[in-house]
Amino acid sequence: MAYKCVVLIKQVPDTKRITGDVMNDDGTVKRSALPAIFNPEDLNALETALEIKDRFGGHITVITMGLPAAAAILRESLYRGADDAILITDRRCAASDTLATSYILSRAVKKLDYDIVLCGRQAIDGDTAQVGPQLAEKLGITQITYVEQLIELSGNRITAQRNIGNGWQQVKAELPVLLTVIGEANEPRVAAAKKMMKYKKASTPIEISEKIKAENPKADAAEIAELIKLRSKSLEEKGLLIKQWSLDHVEADLSWCGMSGSPTKVHRIQSVVLAAKESKDVEPTPDGIADMIHELIEEKTIA
Ligand SMILES: Cc1cc2nc3c(=O)[nH]c(=O)nc-3n(C[C@H](O)[C@H](O)[C@H](O)COP(=O)(O)OP(=O)(O)OC[C@H]3O[C@@H](n4cnc5c(N)ncnc54)[C@H](O)[C@@H]3O)c2cc1C
Repeated sequence: MAYKCVVLIKQVPDTKRITGDVMNDDGTVKRSALPAIFNPEDLNALETALEIKDRFGGHITVITMGLPAAAAILRESLYRGADDAILITDRRCAASDTLATSYILSRAVKKLDYDIVLCGRQAIDGDTAQVGPQLAEKLGITQITYVEQLIELSGNRITAQRNIGNGWQQVKAELPVLLTVIGEANEPRVAAAKKMMKYKKASTPIEISEKIKAENPKADAAEIAELIKLRSKSLEEKGLLIKQWSLDHVEADLSWCGMSGSPTKVHRIQSVVLAAKESKDVEPTPDGIADMIHELIEEKTIA
């Protein structure tokens, strides 16, 4: 049986590169000062979907909700083997907390035919790990979180192994199911050169419009509109038009989106600076290292 997978992916600032220079005075991060990357565990979710497709066949749709620039991770997914990509972008999504985000994503997923929905466990910027479980609830489907291994997939039954911190648990469920996948689950494959050649021109309508305007600075509005129509048609015929959905496309109730759909209020932001209080020199010898390990175990720093 071939499986239809939907993978939710998020473009995030590379929080590993946070230094004093990218912090605002109020403790928030200047997002534009950091490179935007594919959320790491979403790559693991995509890899899980690709492994399912390799074994059983099927179809993979990737969805992201974000700014127009998030099209970059959709293209990256196509380079790795996804079949279809959807960008949800709409000014009315701004200020969405996890509840509003999962609502909007659920409206998009409900437009598709799917067997398995895959999310990363956690995004490295928001870091809540709430969106996957909230999405499963809104879709009314079973969820298996913290998935580290897919044990079996047969007919409409799935068995997955969850990491529960100090051990593991194997869970059986019926499809449709939502999985949240952890970093240890697999080693994401790299982009395939052939697919990069095929999809490097894949674009969203916003990107097409910006490119046409830049290429034709003297054209009037009607000419620009005609050029956009022609370019979009040509890309669509080649399978290179990335779908772009607004809140109207997904028929979202606006009171559940953006600020009005977001009950989370940030009460206070605290900057935590980790500074070493004391340091200790360790002899770079087997005995020195053994002593250090012994000390760390005694202090219960490591077990
Ligand atoms: C207290 C608080 C206040 C916030 N306030 C604002 C605000 O005012 N304005 C604002 O813009 N943002 C705000 N955010 C950020 C916003 O809520 C999150 O970016 C978003 O809801 C996703 O949550 P997360 O990053 O914790 O994702 P997680 O729940 O950690 O993500 C889990 C998985 O869900 C999927 N996923 C998550 N987000 C997306 C997405 N956008 N598209 C596709 N898949 C996705 C991915 O598979 C991801 O791995 C706030 C967050 C918090 C915690």
